[in-house]
Amino acid sequence: IKTIGVLTSGGDAPGMNAAIRAVVRTGIYYGMRVMGIRKGYNGLINGDITEMSLRAVSDIIHRGGTILQTARCPEFKEEEGIKRGVAMCKVFDIDAVVVIGGDGSYRGAKDLSKFGMKVMGIPGTIDNDIACTEYTIGFDTALNTVQDAIDKIRDTAYSHERCSVLEVMGRHAGYIALNVGIAGGAEVVLLPEKTFDLGKDVIKPIIEGRNRGKKHYIVIVAEGVGGAIEIAREIQEQTGIEARATILGHIQRGGSPTVNDRVMASMMGARAVELLKEDISNRIISLKDNKIVDIEINEALDMKKEIDEEIIQLSKILAL
Ligand code: ADP
Repeated sequence: IKTIGVLTSGGDAPGMNAAIRAVVRTGIYYGMRVMGIRKGYNGLINGDITEMSLRAVSDIIHRGGTILQTARCPEFKEEEGIKRGVAMCKVFDIDAVVVIGGDGSYRGAKDLSKFGMKVMGIPGTIDNDIACTEYTIGFDTALNTVQDAIDKIRDTAYSHERCSVLEVMGRHAGYIALNVGIAGGAEVVLLPEKTFDLGKDVIKPIIEGRNRGKKHYIVIVAEGVGGAIEIAREIQEQTGIEARATILGHIQRGGSPTVNDRVMASMMGARAVELLKEDISNRIISLKDNKIVDIEINEALDMKKEIDEEIIQLSKILAL
């Protein structure tokens, strides 16, 4: 492999820049050319592609977002779009494409591989919702951002003896909600993976907490559960405790990546290139038992990931 293309696709995540940097520098170190493809698969279809030098990735390791930008590309779900992507790779002499993104982006990569392109996936999403890997780049930074917000809200909730209902990201996966629930000492955590009963799972623990002497209450609601404002209203009506909802939104996507995200992104980016150098492709770089491994793309897309019941139980025990 002489020339690698690199793109970021799907939702942005802090640490994507560190991964791009690692791909560019490792590639050049091994004598390959690296082409930056802007705006995900859109840039691939439209030829929005330029060669990246060592200096093109200077001063980005600490920056959130992605310098290559990202986009959704509906055309890529059609065969016509994939064929245009493959043709554009030929125009720019790209032998392999490194895709930094989530499961949706890997489906696009898999389709490219069906037409003979060599591809490699790197997990980048704040949600940690990619089945084949224990860790995704951006998750740690997002957790720390949410944690910081919870700590601030806790101060004011305590001072006013209020209940704070916080909506955090996670449309289909509750990894952010569950982890910040533990780290932030939440009384209640509502996850998209679990149905809940307002009376038993929300009102009851709050009233019981009050009877044990609690002075404030934190309720974490994952985006996929939704309805944080209504939940706050119900809590206030049914318990008489003043309740306020805060929807954190896109603040969770930005910010300077944590050390963990920078190191993980650097190691995963470098591994992707090292495998391509050995002419190994169509794999997703993953973390398994705290080691970086690579998994065949079809196998990776068929995998399922379950939220840890023991951690859910722990969050309930610690909320007593
Ligand atoms: P993520 O990669 O974070 O899961 P998306 O699901 O939005 O994000 O996917 C990002 C992009 O990947 C889509 O806009 C599209 O271009 C491509 N993609 C998603 N699903 C498919 C699919 N089934 N086939 C081909 N390309 C896809």
